[in-house]
Amino acid sequence: MSQSTSASHATAAPAVGTLYIISAPSGAGKTSLVRALLQRNAGIGVSVSHTTRAMRPGEQDGVNYHFVAQPEFEAMVERGEFFEHAWVFDRHYGTSRVEVEKRLAVGEDVILEIDWQGARQVREQAPDAESIFILPPSREALRERLAGRGTDDEAVIERRMRDAVSEMSHFDEYGHVVINDTFEHALTELECIVHARRSRLDKMQARHATLLDELLNGID
Ligand code: 5GP
Repeated sequence: MSQSTSASHATAAPAVGTLYIISAPSGAGKTSLVRALLQRNAGIGVSVSHTTRAMRPGEQDGVNYHFVAQPEFEAMVERGEFFEHAWVFDRHYGTSRVEVEKRLAVGEDVILEIDWQGARQVREQAPDAESIFILPPSREALRERLAGRGTDDEAVIERRMRDAVSEMSHFDEYGHVVINDTFEHALTELECIVHARRSRLDKMQARHATLLDELLNGID
């Protein structure tokens, strides 16, 4: 059988970024892991969501979230500007469609740090998205994280535990599960997921079209 060395192996659609959904209960360490993942890897960014919740100390508008008033959020919903949106812990949260699509179109990988309800909506529209659920290493570790500095009363901590368990009950809707037992281990697992995805055939063809063309069609 003759071997084909046609250039068609190398030509491919332009590079389009991958969409990552990352969910976790509050207290699982998701935000720190995502921050470290971005510091150590180029070509990947996190989408800044819109929310109607109040800004917390240390947060910045446009960095942690786009903080908007309820009427503005509702107008965005009306205009169909959200890729997904959900009511989480008594507040609205949503992902801007235009922001995500612009970044994916130029080949950037985009992480959505969203809850399980948003994850479901994204999976319906983008079945090829990579979804990851981060779990804490134990119930006790979770409780300790949620108790914070020990200044909150027991009822508040119990409420946070119930919310965390409710979010965790959806872990089996995700393609990957990472247990945050040690920070380094969990970070390596996240990186493995991203690197494995980047080595998939379609992504390699898009990013390395010139190399593939040279390897297959170059003249010695
Ligand atoms: P926090 O207010 O503590 O930053 O986030 C609370 C919850 O809202 C987290 O579970 C987080 O994943 C979720 N969340 C943040 N942004 C979005 C978003 O754009 N869409 C959805 N569906 N959930 C979000």
